[in-house]
Amino acid sequence: MSVCESEIDERNQVSIECPSQVTIGVLGLQGDFDAHIKMVSQIDGVNPRIIKQPRDFEGCSGLILPGGESTTVGKLMERYGIDTAIRQRVSEGMAVFGTCTGMILMAKEIENSEQQRLGLMDITVRRNAFGRQVDSFETDIIIPEIGNDPINAVFIRAPYVTQVRSDAHILYQLDDERIIFVRQQKLLAAAFHPELTGDTRVHQYFVNIARGIA
Ligand code: GLN
Repeated sequence: MSVCESEIDERNQVSIECPSQVTIGVLGLQGDFDAHIKMVSQIDGVNPRIIKQPRDFEGCSGLILPGGESTTVGKLMERYGIDTAIRQRVSEGMAVFGTCTGMILMAKEIENSEQQRLGLMDITVRRNAFGRQVDSFETDIIIPEIGNDPINAVFIRAPYVTQVRSDAHILYQLDDERIIFVRQQKLLAAAFHPELTGDTRVHQYFVNIARGIA
């Protein structure tokens, strides 16, 4: 039985088609882009591509902005014209998933900062927001949109979202109400690092968004 057929059986949905081939780019200027490439490589039908310059976006349905250091990545994106290329591609329907630094760069508002950003999502973020004592920690979270089994969420000097506006909406907030996972149409942002676990479900969810089926 092919992978495609077994998926149809498991979900008991005869109408599901085989996943079409889709190119997912991962911004490779700085940070942990390799880990994201490894994650999307495990997903059926995904053609992964490291993005380093504007022409690399050709044919990309989705883009992942990895963790790193947001002031550095913001400056590098501007220097290579990648910020302009991303805004253009998003206006043409490309999906974007930002993790940690990626979430910061996608926000229209960054508290107490004028740093460069893409400004794609109607959210406000606070950088390094979990405080020094808990700069890095992990916790299990259940994101109903993705499934009922817990996802291990790893936070590394993480931001969180302090405001959500327009049609941006919350996919997950911690017990203390800090918002760590948001979506606005084809834009997805997480304060945590799903690429550091062995679990591809968050990436699969993003690929489904890029395919237009989530
Ligand atoms: N603290 C970093 C920043 O502000 C984000 C950390 C991360 O991406 N792991 O950009």
